[in-house]
Amino acid sequence: MSTIEDSIQRIRERIAGACARVGRSESDVRLVGVTKRVDVDRIRLAASLGIRDFGENYIQEAMKKIEGFGGDVSWHMIGHIQSNKLKYMPALFSYIHSVDRWEIIQDLESYGKPMKFLFELNLSGEASKHGTQEDNLRRMVEKVHTLRCMEPVGLMTMPPYVDDPEEVRGIFRSLREILDRVNREFSLNMGELSMGMSSDFEVAIEEGATMVRIGTAIFGERQ
Ligand SMILES: *Cc1c(COP(=O)(O)O)cnc(C)c1O
Repeated sequence: MSTIEDSIQRIRERIAGACARVGRSESDVRLVGVTKRVDVDRIRLAASLGIRDFGENYIQEAMKKIEGFGGDVSWHMIGHIQSNKLKYMPALFSYIHSVDRWEIIQDLESYGKPMKFLFELNLSGEASKHGTQEDNLRRMVEKVHTLRCMEPVGLMTMPPYVDDPEEVRGIFRSLREILDRVNREFSLNMGELSMGMSSDFEVAIEEGATMVRIGTAIFGERQ
């Protein structure tokens, strides 16, 4: 088994490789360490090795870890958002990746704390996955000019798991095309594409990912 240190170094090399293949700069890709079911000691180790962004899926679990964590790190909410847990989110997170309905934004806006968010799109047509569709995205984007605290910064997607990441290249490309279209049509300047996980982040980077969410490849298999 490799250590967290080795794993992070190897991922950084692979990120650099993917960037080089398409003429992008490594500094344009943010590595978000996904820490669901990872204990705080191992998260601290990853932070000491230079990871500055961590993603959590569940509010209850995130609260225990984030309160008192300290340090110069940003926490990202990447999991499905339950309406009854929204009130905890402003104190915990800098980024919300998984916004798929307007009520979430509206509710978070009411807390008065500046937060960045991404719209989650479901581009794989799988009913089990969360995320919205392009038509509903447009209906939400139409209203973002009314926001004062909540700042839309981009799009997120989660393709189905496949053995060969080439199979989901088209999904990553679609997300980038939708971002371009929506920016153009609504005169916005959203720049973030949160896409790519342990099994497919290199393909996602080749297609424009600015944030890759990586758990297993850093911390090993989850229990
Ligand atoms: C768990 C999770 C990840 C990380 O998955 P790995 O395959 O372990 O890298 C990324 N994004 C979301 C939304 C997740 O739930």
